[in-house]
Amino acid sequence: MNLLPKIKSCPCCNSFNLIKINGVSYENNFLSLKDWVLKKIFNCRKCRVKIGLFAEHANIKGEMIVWIDLLKCEEAYYKNLTNLQKSKEKLKKQNKKYEDVIKEINDIQNKIRLDQVKVKIKAKIQNPGIFVRHA
Ligand SMILES: [Zn+2]
Repeated sequence: MNLLPKIKSCPCCNSFNLIKINGVSYENNFLSLKDWVLKKIFNCRKCRVKIGLFAEHANIKGEMIVWIDLLKCEEAYYKNLTNLQKSKEKLKKQNKKYEDVIKEINDIQNKIRLDQVKVKIKAKIQNPGIFVRHA
């Protein structure tokens, strides 16, 4: 168990956050990351977005920093997408239904991207001044 604080950069504003992990895992209700352990949920000290630190295993091997609101955009469609992926695998490529399934998967993925763009824009509007402008 590692009790030393970790430095993690915010996926929203890139600010560094010093976080302490006390070895307690949070309840992980995220279906798309169900194989991961949720080690910590915290708010970025600068932009205040909610961030999750996920670990591959309880004793932390690989780690992943996730912007929770972006993850939620994917979560909303997770079951639907998983079912579509399964039907896609079952269907033969020549089948007309196969094309429908592919189209539906693409539509959902576009929706997720759009939802995520909205989340990003909202974070920027709520935090004027902390984002570097890219000319
Ligand atoms: Zn931030």
